Amino acid sequence: MNFIGQHILSVDQFDRASIEEVFRVADNMIPYALRQRVTRVLEGAILGNMFFEPSTRTRVSFGCAWNLLGGEVRETTGIKASALAKGESFYDTARVLSGYSDLIVMRHEKMGSVAEFAAASRVPVINGGDGANEHPSQALLDLYTISRELTDQGKAIDGMRIALVGDLRFGRAVHSLCKLLGIYRNISFSLISPEALRLPSSYIESLRSAGHTVVESSDMASGLQQADIVYVTRTQEERFESADEAQRYKGLLRLNQAVYTQYCEPNTVIMHPLPRDTRAEANELDNDLNDNPNLAIFRQTDNGVLIRMALFALILNVADQIDATSRPVNWYTAKRF
Ligand code: ASP
Repeated sequence: MNFIGQHILSVDQFDRASIEEVFRVADNMIPYALRQRVTRVLEGAILGNMFFEPSTRTRVSFGCAWNLLGGEVRETTGIKASALAKGESFYDTARVLSGYSDLIVMRHEKMGSVAEFAAASRVPVINGGDGANEHPSQALLDLYTISRELTDQGKAIDGMRIALVGDLRFGRAVHSLCKLLGIYRNISFSLISPEALRLPSSYIESLRSAGHTVVESSDMASGLQQADIVYVTRTQEERFESADEAQRYKGLLRLNQAVYTQYCEPNTVIMHPLPRDTRAEANELDNDLNDNPNLAIFRQTDNGVLIRMALFALILNVADQIDATSRPVNWYTAKRF
């Protein structure tokens, strides 16, 4: 894949070689994310960070990644703060904002909205999440995390065993991750969800036809065993017809230390795209796991900066200029890892 000037709208755009290229550039970003070195390779460039749906990690880490490369960020948050609320089309919004930016990251609740926006944009657009459809940068950072965690255990993505837990119907992070994992070989998928929130059949069919094993269940007892990775997700309440309907599924599947000890292997890696819903009625990933060394959720969020820096560097064709323009930091830096 030639990244230069490309939109990133779906993980369908990636093959194994392009994933590995993103990971190689991400590895190179570690000293910058750790505040050991500074680069100004995007000095003068402007990111349009357009989030029309709630976001903490994705919005801030895209902005932070751009800043770490030396660029400036302009941001819109929430539909109400933009002219979309006055009836402006994606076409007009994209024509306007692409005149102000070198690259745009966009999130919106409507499936396909970011592709529609990108079609009218004059600069590259990255999908920061379009409804229940896709979240490509999340899937890349998840896969990068999986790769690093498994490598530490002497394992590989090919042949691994993953349990995906929770709202697999509406979870776009899971949708993109399944497509990306589908590129690899011989993976065992254990899909654990309430009956009504199963992974859409098109994803399951693609995985099976690519030679992967997929088993579905509705409870942790049968689904959690023999997993290298357990990936827990939140009930996507904003995608349901009503809050009452979403409420029915909250709290049905919970991972806590007792469940982990009973069903998981001693080094099963625990992941979640976050936010975890810590309200008592949900609490799908309990705080009592916070000191479990296999809890990788904050390694995922740290890795998100690396992956987003890599995407920017590849799309804007500066990946090879970063080290040459860098210097050590000149301020006190706290130890991050
Ligand atoms: N932050 C992820 C997303 O935007 C996962 C979630 O919200 O549950 O899709």
